[in-house]
Amino acid sequence: TSGAQGTSGAQGTNAELFARAQAAIPGGVNSPVRAFRSVGGTPRFLVSARGPYVTDAEGREYVDLVAGWGPAILGHADPRVVEAVQAAAARGLSFGSSTPAETELAELVEARVAPVEQLRLVSTGTEATMSAIRLARGATGRDVLVKFAGHYHGHSDGLLAEAGSGLATFALPGSAGVPADIAALTLVVPYNDLDALAAVFAEHGERIAAVIVEASAANMGVVPPRPGFNRALVELAHAHGALVISDEVLTGFRVSEAGWWGLEARSADTAYTPDLMTFGKVIGGGMPVAALGGRAELMQQLAPLGPVYQAGTLSGNPVAVAAGIATLRAADAEVYGRLDAAAATISAAVSEALAAEGVAHAVQRAGNLFSFVFGEELASGAHDYATVQRQESWRYAPFFHAMLDAGVSLPPSVFEAWFVTAAHDEAAIGRILDALPAAARAAAS
Ligand code: PLP
Repeated sequence: TSGAQGTSGAQGTNAELFARAQAAIPGGVNSPVRAFRSVGGTPRFLVSARGPYVTDAEGREYVDLVAGWGPAILGHADPRVVEAVQAAAARGLSFGSSTPAETELAELVEARVAPVEQLRLVSTGTEATMSAIRLARGATGRDVLVKFAGHYHGHSDGLLAEAGSGLATFALPGSAGVPADIAALTLVVPYNDLDALAAVFAEHGERIAAVIVEASAANMGVVPPRPGFNRALVELAHAHGALVISDEVLTGFRVSEAGWWGLEARSADTAYTPDLMTFGKVIGGGMPVAALGGRAELMQQLAPLGPVYQAGTLSGNPVAVAAGIATLRAADAEVYGRLDAAAATISAAVSEALAAEGVAHAVQRAGNLFSFVFGEELASGAHDYATVQRQESWRYAPFFHAMLDAGVSLPPSVFEAWFVTAAHDEAAIGRILDALPAAARAAAS
C-alpha cells in the first residue's frame, strides 16, 4: 500500500475490508465486541487516530468515545508518548532481560497507589488477574474464588462465569471449553449485595482463597459500587482469612491519579486496602502492559522468590513500558480535571437529549466513566447485573448508528463504558452535542 492510507478507497471500503477479514480471521475480529454484533452494521476499519479523533479506511473522521477501550487518557497519539515509544524502539524492541524502565514504571505505580508495595509487569489484563488468582491460591492454600455477576476480569477459564463485556453483549452464560471442574471453583455473587456475599462466606468461608472484584464495575455498562461496599467486602473477606483482589485494569489511573482506590481513599467511610490489585490499559498507554501488585510479603511469594510460578517473554517489554511511563508522567491533576469535565458535559448532554425525546433512562457514573441504561424501570439507576439486563437495550443500536452516521464513534454495545480523553476539547465535544438530538430521536422510536 502507498502513503495514501486514510484517503478514500485506499484499501477498500469498510464493507470490503470486513468481508476480507471475515475470510481470514474468525468473525473478522481479534476481540468479539469489535464485530458490531449487538448493534448490527459494518465495523469501521481504522487506519489512524489523533487526539479525540479516529479515521477509518474510507477517510472518514469520527470523534472517538472508545479511546482504545480505555488506555488513551491523553488522547490518541499524544506526541510525548509517541516520542518515548520511538526512542525506545530505536534502542531495541525486546531484550528478555531486566531494564531500568521497568523499575521506574513500578515506582510510579507504587507512589500513587499505597496498597501496592511491589508490582509485577505482564502484558494483558487477563494475565494480571489470572496471575493474581494463582498467587492468592498459593498464599492461602485454598482453591475457591468468589466473583460478582457482570464483572469482567479477562478471559481466563475460571473468570468467564457470568462475566460482563462481550459476554454481556452476547448474553452467554459463560464459555464453551471451560471444564466444569474449573468453573465449579468460581462462586458468583450478585454485585453490591453484602448479604449474599456474607451468606457465601458463611457456607464456604474456609475454602475461599479470594474475592475478585472490579473496583467499580464498568463491563456491564458502568455500575458503581454502593458507598462503603468495597470497604465492607474487604472486612468480610479478611474475617474469613480470604484475600481481596481489586481489579483496576479499567479504572486504574483513569478515574483519578490513584484510580478508583484513590477516589474511595478520600473518605474514611469508604477507604479500603485490598491485598492485591490488577492494572492494565492506561499503564501501557496503548501498548501491551498490565500488572499485578500488592503487599510485599504476598508479592514475594511469586517466582523467583516464592513457590507461585509466573513469567513472560514479553513482560516489561521496553517499548511498551516506555509508553506507560510517558502516559503516567503526563497524567497530572490537570488531565484528570479535563477528563472529569468532559465526562460531566457529555453525559449531561446525552441525558438532556434523551429526556427531550421522552426516552426513560439513567446516567450511570463512576468518576469520569459513564454509560446509560434505558427504560422506565431503570430510571433510578442500576446496581447489579440482573437489573442492567432488564433494560430496553434495543434502544441503543439506533442511537449508536445515528451517532456513527454523524461522525461520533461510541462503544458498539450498551454494556460498555464510554471513555473520554483529555484531548476532547470544545470542538470535539461540540460535534458530539450536535449529533445528539437526532440520535435521541432514533432511540425514542
Ligand atoms: N479486568 C477488567 C476490569 C477489564 O476491563 C479487562 C478488559 O477490558 C480485563 C480485566 C482484561 O484485560 P485484557 O483485555 O487486557 O486482557
